[in-house]
Amino acid sequence: VRFHDLFLPIALMRAIQEVGYQYCSPIQAMTLPYALAGFDCIGKAQTGTGKTAAFLITAITDLLEHRLEEQYLGEPRALILAPTRELALQIAEDAQQLTKYSRLKVVAVVGGMDFEKQQKQLAEQRVDIMVATPGRLIDFMNRKLVFLDQIELLVIDEADRMLDMGFIPDIKTIVRATPRTENRQTLMFSATFSQDILNLAERWTNEPVQVEV
Ligand code: AMP
Repeated sequence: VRFHDLFLPIALMRAIQEVGYQYCSPIQAMTLPYALAGFDCIGKAQTGTGKTAAFLITAITDLLEHRLEEQYLGEPRALILAPTRELALQIAEDAQQLTKYSRLKVVAVVGGMDFEKQQKQLAEQRVDIMVATPGRLIDFMNRKLVFLDQIELLVIDEADRMLDMGFIPDIKTIVRATPRTENRQTLMFSATFSQDILNLAERWTNEPVQVEV
């Protein structure tokens, strides 16, 4: 499958061409038709398979296809949760590249980095796509700097690592602050599909399409 054949928004297609992707990787070819149609997906995929672009392309397409009438500061429309700062920053960087020709704004909310800088960024400009590690996001939510009621798309990346690192209670708190499963789209990725992961998927997704590479 070529990206060209997916009828993506022009601003996104231009960015995809610029980063040099032409053909979908297997996880992208299997996920994008469902994800772009609005279905929830749970994907079994390791790092290096192109899962990041799969969920970013879904998020960007969804956000570009319609506008919010009113959008307030600190109200992202897409939220991507990642277990580590390094991964979150990598995802945010990829998101910056893919939104380069659109008006979408990407903000990373990650631990271990300048809190005030992140706070200032959120106080000064709109955010469409937020990439976050769980602890720091909860901190921002508690301080009423981030509100998740406008979330249209939730991505939980590396769910198995989130589980191993003890982040599930934090993620439960975060997911509870987003709209209910029927009113948001949820994509979950994990390198393994253990029973624990499938139980979480059952709770956080709505009739998901299951994809494995
Ligand atoms: P990820 O699994 O998301 O960490 O991506 C692994 C690497 O593959 C990243 O460096 C991406 O830039 C690259 N990549 C993702 N999708 C494609 C694609 N369709 N064609 C070529 N490279 C890609």
